Amino acid sequence: MILSERATQVKTSASLKVTAKAQNLNISGFDVINLGTGEVDFPTPLHIKEAAVEAINGTLPKYTAVEGILELREALCDKFFADYGVKYEPENAVISNGAKQALMNTIFSLVGQSDEVIISAPYWQSYMELVLLAGGVPVIVYTKEERGYKITPEELKQVVTPKTKAIIINSPNNPTGAVYTKSELEAIADFACKNDLFIISDEVYDKMIYSRKVQFTSVASLGEEVKKRTVVINSFSKTYSMTSWRIGYALADKKIAKAMAKIQSHTTSNVNVVSQFAALAALKGGDEIIESNITELKRRRDYMVQRISDLPYLRSLKPVGGLYILVNVSRLYGEKVGDVEIKSGRDVASILFDKYNLAVVAGDVFGCEDCIRLSFAASMKDIIVGINRIENFIKQNF
Ligand code: PLP
Repeated sequence: MILSERATQVKTSASLKVTAKAQNLNISGFDVINLGTGEVDFPTPLHIKEAAVEAINGTLPKYTAVEGILELREALCDKFFADYGVKYEPENAVISNGAKQALMNTIFSLVGQSDEVIISAPYWQSYMELVLLAGGVPVIVYTKEERGYKITPEELKQVVTPKTKAIIINSPNNPTGAVYTKSELEAIADFACKNDLFIISDEVYDKMIYSRKVQFTSVASLGEEVKKRTVVINSFSKTYSMTSWRIGYALADKKIAKAMAKIQSHTTSNVNVVSQFAALAALKGGDEIIESNITELKRRRDYMVQRISDLPYLRSLKPVGGLYILVNVSRLYGEKVGDVEIKSGRDVASILFDKYNLAVVAGDVFGCEDCIRLSFAASMKDIIVGINRIENFIKQNF
């Protein structure tokens, strides 16, 4: 029995894998701290849960429209207009099972066999895998740490070809925490327009910015021409602590939205209706809860950044947004821990897991071999214990 090339070549999501491994060991009585997952430990807000219960106890619709119930798509357009001043209509919106499915729908709608998609590294792992699954070719641009890991039009110029179909932008970024300024995005958008490219703008961390001086810009807000060629991807997972509810969305030109809904009609149909009503409550429930969550996440980020910068051999940029710190471990190379000579972030991640019961994600899956990624979405208690374990690892071995 031979599986398809697609199935054999696709890689498992590294952060989901490390999380499952940590959870399984904890069930067996180990004390593994998980700084691998981008999942905030805050509960889903009560008013959202109550709306879900009310929906279950009411007259639930059966199958809904593939692209989601009209009230939700209307509320989404209203919220996007209120937040970013960009006007969309319900026909522009497709509700999906998380941002992940929205990305899959988008990439499968835009990217054909051998079409090239520009992805800046460090990148979120699924972009690569989804482009490959669609038969496309990921073209990776390795951005520079000293430039805050942000891609520039000059770098784009060097890799664009007649086969380039799209650029993926992720700001705030997973795993680097970089947030593009409006003028940086304008320059990229201008490049996309001149070269007739789509922009896939993954904005799932739009609310997670920790500096008052930095403002989030949605790529879709950069004018009609840019908006037409942009697919905005977002999710309820991070903003409303709803990872397991599996609900996200895309906002796109109507022709693209239609294509995405067609694809989704053959894969999952509509998102489960309880989550749709819960998401509606999230959009209508005000942003106070988001603001208090951000204050707490900033506290965790600041603590983690400080502790990492106090440790010798490790180096990281202070993330402006997102949920992660990318830590460069290359100064440990050549040293031995037991029999293992450290040659990569993956070696460090393995040692931390096997010897220090600490789950982190190895940077190679993000296109950054010299790094490990730590998440400050974990509880403060876990962050403190987790960083203590990294400190022990450093003190005991170097
Ligand atoms: N995009 C980025 C950059 C992410 O980090 C994640 C999840 O970690 C997603 C999309 C997927 O989000 P969702 O849970 O809504 O599928």
